[in-house]
Amino acid sequence: MNEKDDFSTDNQLNLRLRGGYEKLAEKILKNGCPFCNLKEKYILAEKDGLVLTVNIFPYIDGQLMVIPRRHIKSFEEVTVEETVTNYFLSQLAITLLREELGVKGVWMLLRDGGLGSESGKTVEHLHWNILPYTDSLNTWHHQELSVTPAEMAVRLRSKIDK
Ligand SMILES: [Zn+2]
Repeated sequence: MNEKDDFSTDNQLNLRLRGGYEKLAEKILKNGCPFCNLKEKYILAEKDGLVLTVNIFPYIDGQLMVIPRRHIKSFEEVTVEETVTNYFLSQLAITLLREELGVKGVWMLLRDGGLGSESGKTVEHLHWNILPYTDSLNTWHHQELSVTPAEMAVRLRSKIDK
């Protein structure tokens, strides 16, 4: 498959549901980081080194992303200035989704950690997903607990430098 086929309308609209996305992502990543080479036609806004863009293989109509131009992998690398810029671009994203698509609820998702089963992300370049909410897409699978919240607070508080 050539690059034109990879990003065909059919792939963009159906590949996630067909189950071929992971394989294509693997192929795309071999050609370098896609988020370091964002195409202008997908970008909605840019501010101070961050862009607001559509996701080209979205989970749902209207899935947007905020992506720093610089290639960073972890939330721990994000600066205060980038956090402030993300705030403005995320507000813009939510406003656009509400006004243009009539989206009522939004989830914001940052996956921090390694690829695949480590964090669920396929592109390591840091990105914040802004997802229109629906019950059928955003489903929790609650886990069996082994620590009470109060015990967890004690444990974690003890690690914070006073
Ligand atoms: Zn990158």
